[in-house]
Amino acid sequence: MDDRLFRNAMGKFATGVTVITTNVNGTIHGMTANAFMSVSLNPKLVVISIGEKASMLEHIKQSGTFTVNILSAQQQELSMLFAGQLKEKREVQFSDLQGAPTIEGALAQISCEVASTYVEGDHTLFIGSVKDIQLEEGEPLLFFNGRYGSLAVETTMQA
Ligand code: FAD
Ligand code: NAD
Repeated sequence: MDDRLFRNAMGKFATGVTVITTNVNGTIHGMTANAFMSVSLNPKLVVISIGEKASMLEHIKQSGTFTVNILSAQQQELSMLFAGQLKEKREVQFSDLQGAPTIEGALAQISCEVASTYVEGDHTLFIGSVKDIQLEEGEPLLFFNGRYGSLAVETTMQA
């Protein structure tokens, strides 16, 4: 099957956008990812899927931890930065959740310890055991058909 057909089909599934952050020996790394899912409530588990070519793969293997930062509609530029889609490098100020690196303004910051790892095809699935959560108010950044978007705001007509 053609790769483009597969990607076009997967792109029909509208998602939010996250930046995965991790701290390896004092250096913080980030990567944009939309392959994220809630897995279990009891115990609290999530999953992310990281491609074999992404340097984030080795970073998470080394640190054994990651934070999922669910981006707000105002953070498209951060998504592009951490997907390598911006030409220039930027300095990013990370925040901290009980020692885990987070992105300020992200709607949810979910710090995890790697509970298990599954290599599947050209990606690795990391099951994360959730340690801490911080929530912020705002609208989500969306990804659909290979493009960014945001929620349409419904206006209610007064009778
Ligand atoms: P690098 O190429 O090292 O880093 C990525 C970018 O982040 C670089 O430009 C780097 O300069 C910047 N960066 C990293 N750390 C910092 C820092 N501390 N300060 C400032 N800048 C920094 N790939 C997947 O494997 N799984 C997914 O679920 C996934 N979902 C995606 C969803 C979307 C919407 C998009 C656009 C891309 C997605 N990708 C996904 C692709 C992935 O984001 C890119 O392939 C990415 O470039 C891989 O990054 P890397 O780990 O190789 O890190
Ligand atoms: P796109 O049309 O490539 O993405 C549409 C959908 O296809 C994505 O939401 C994802 O579900 C799927 N997809 C894309 N590349 C994939 C891959 N290598 N492995 C598994 N699923 C994949 O959108 P785009 O704007 O061209 O994406 C920008 C870049 O980010 C591309 O290089 C793309 O490969 C990469 N990306 C990777 C993943 C991933 O690895 N899971 C997810 C999204 C985007």
